[in-house]
Amino acid sequence: MNMEYREEDYLMISGIQHFAFCRRQWALIHVEWQWQENLRTVEGKIVHERCHDEKFTEKRGDLLICRGMRVFSSRMGVTGQCDVVEFTKGETGAFLLGREGAWQPCPVEYKRGKPKQDKSDALQLCAQAMCLEEMLCCDIPEAQLFYDEIHRRERVVLTSELRQEVKNMFLEMHDYYARGVTPKVRSNKKCNSCSLKDLCLPKLAKKKSVNAYYQAYVEDL
Ligand code: SF4
Repeated sequence: MNMEYREEDYLMISGIQHFAFCRRQWALIHVEWQWQENLRTVEGKIVHERCHDEKFTEKRGDLLICRGMRVFSSRMGVTGQCDVVEFTKGETGAFLLGREGAWQPCPVEYKRGKPKQDKSDALQLCAQAMCLEEMLCCDIPEAQLFYDEIHRRERVVLTSELRQEVKNMFLEMHDYYARGVTPKVRSNKKCNSCSLKDLCLPKLAKKKSVNAYYQAYVEDL
């Protein structure tokens, strides 16, 4: 059965990075609507503000550059915004209103810092590409990540494994969201760089009993 989500149930595509980093962090932000800014999140916003100008579409010969393009997928139940989508005129791609021929889309996501060890950026980018494929009825075999620290784009091949991981994560996120559940996670080394560590209180969250909770509270004083 090919299920489709209602618009009011759509989740934010960008949440998949949080979910890949820590399921609890995602739920604190997207289920409980808690958010704390730290240097990393503020810097990330500045990088994005530079490329999100929704009115801006630029044409350079056979290349069309669209900034801040809104995308969605009713099959995955998600919505979001691409930093940049580049359309190259050629043999394959989408047919765009008012333009002749086929235009191959390639989403480009701008990131603070340098390439990460984990797949969180690639998952977000792949999700954007899957939305574009659904919206524009075309195939997008690869996309790109730009990192401001190395000033270079990295090519990301959108494999069937990566696509399946995206689908599985969105299914899991929808399940948590529908049940209003924030999963418990053991404190780990990622917590040091987490923007929500003061809200999350990982040391206390793993204690089960009220006694253990107060014991930890007293020890922290
Ligand atoms: S502090 Fe740790 S457990 Fe809590 S949300 Fe952040 S990464 Fe996850």
